[in-house]
Amino acid sequence: MEIHFLYPNSKTKALTLSYDDGQIYDRRLVDILNKYGMKGTFHLNSGLLDQEGFVTAKEIKELYRGHEIACHGVRHNYLHHLPKELLMHELWDDRKRLEELAESIVVGMSYAFGEYSGEVVDCLSQIGISYARTVNSNNRFSIPVDFLRWEPTCHHNGGLLDKAEKFLNIPGYMKLPLFYIWGHSFEFERENNWDLIENFCKTVSNQEDVWYVTNLDYYNYIMAMKRLVFSLDSTLVYNPSGLAVWFMCGEKVVTVQPGETKRLEASL
Ligand SMILES: [Zn+2]
Repeated sequence: MEIHFLYPNSKTKALTLSYDDGQIYDRRLVDILNKYGMKGTFHLNSGLLDQEGFVTAKEIKELYRGHEIACHGVRHNYLHHLPKELLMHELWDDRKRLEELAESIVVGMSYAFGEYSGEVVDCLSQIGISYARTVNSNNRFSIPVDFLRWEPTCHHNGGLLDKAEKFLNIPGYMKLPLFYIWGHSFEFERENNWDLIENFCKTVSNQEDVWYVTNLDYYNYIMAMKRLVFSLDSTLVYNPSGLAVWFMCGEKVVTVQPGETKRLEASL
């Protein structure tokens, strides 16, 4: 029997948004996402909060409720320019400050200016960052090969509505498609195209087969999926993670709960 993984609750597609810099226009963007039941990740520079044009330290916990708060460096520095003490400071202090303000664990990141190096990636791993987004749009609907160099599908100016149609009509043989959009909320204001994101949300929201998810929840699910342990004859599966995992086993949907060992009906 063949096995095909599914997203939570048997959804077959996933969609996530990722917005950088934490400028005040995030407020309007969050309102739009909330109106349509979409989920986003907001990458903030903790050292720029409260400055003119940026959201305030005090408001972020409430503003981004239901979404994810993630790192973007303390002061939006070019990370690959920095000597290692300053690099560590830029990353460590950002995570620590955002965790204090969000009152939650922060393990997401996007690279300021999209710039990074092997040394930066190593440093992220050392301070427990789970994933980091680049600005290298790949125009694909795929699971990242490397979560610390996570390539988005496209920037919101990269043919968003055309891609939305493609995503909604994606052929069934393409498994676990992910549509990942990135940008900055100030761009909608600057380019006077708030209708773009509103129309996009209208088009892709309320789809039964789409999982609307933050970057981190997506990462956590894929990790849980990959941590499943199968017996060599594929009749048993064990889920050591804290998240339920879904897959098709032949024609049947199987859910393996956290900590559960399940017998599959026949060998795969
Ligand atoms: Zn930025």
